[in-house]
Amino acid sequence: MIKDFKGTIICASKYFDEKQLRKIYDQGYHDFGENRVQVLVEKMNKLKDLDINWHFIGHLQSNKVKEVINDIAFLHTLDRISLAKEIQKHANHKIKCLIQMNLTEEDQKSGLYLDKLPQFLLEIKKYDKIELIGFMTMGKDEDEIKTNEVFKKLYDLSQTYKLPLLSMGMSNDYELAIKHHATHLRIGRKFYDLLN
Ligand SMILES: *Cc1c(COP(=O)(O)O)cnc(C)c1O
Repeated sequence: MIKDFKGTIICASKYFDEKQLRKIYDQGYHDFGENRVQVLVEKMNKLKDLDINWHFIGHLQSNKVKEVINDIAFLHTLDRISLAKEIQKHANHKIKCLIQMNLTEEDQKSGLYLDKLPQFLLEIKKYDKIELIGFMTMGKDEDEIKTNEVFKKLYDLSQTYKLPLLSMGMSNDYELAIKHHATHLRIGRKFYDLLN
């Protein structure tokens, strides 16, 4: 489906029901990413016979942390210290986390603003249940130039701070993400190609 990519393709599962997800799994995709806590819990339960790595890729409300934090392989959307605090309270092992960055500075999007990153990295050290492993971001819709900049910036951050995982690139912009060394693509609608 996506050629010449050596990293991990995460299927953004929000578009698909149980039957479709089983088909996708059978095609060799074993990393799924869900956006909503309630839906994640339901899908995990329905698919518990499969060996899936579950990624949480949506905004995580602090009061929902305890429902999923010990069952996911990766959290892609750590974007505030208050969330880290909640994770510290409920995690029973170290949780692999990516820092979600808001690099397009669109207020309606979640993610940490760039100017807040140094302080965030200092404060996060207190929380030993957080294992920082990378960065996540989203491009800007219909704006290839901005998206290119944003993906390049995320790569630079991963070099600067030595956090190697790069979760970026969706159905529309994964080629740009690959160009900028994405390690994890989050692909949703493009999976319909595989189901049809
Ligand atoms: C839905 C979603 C995706 C995948 O979107 P497509 O454009 O359908 O590939 C990726 N990341 C996040 C956070 C999403 O919510």
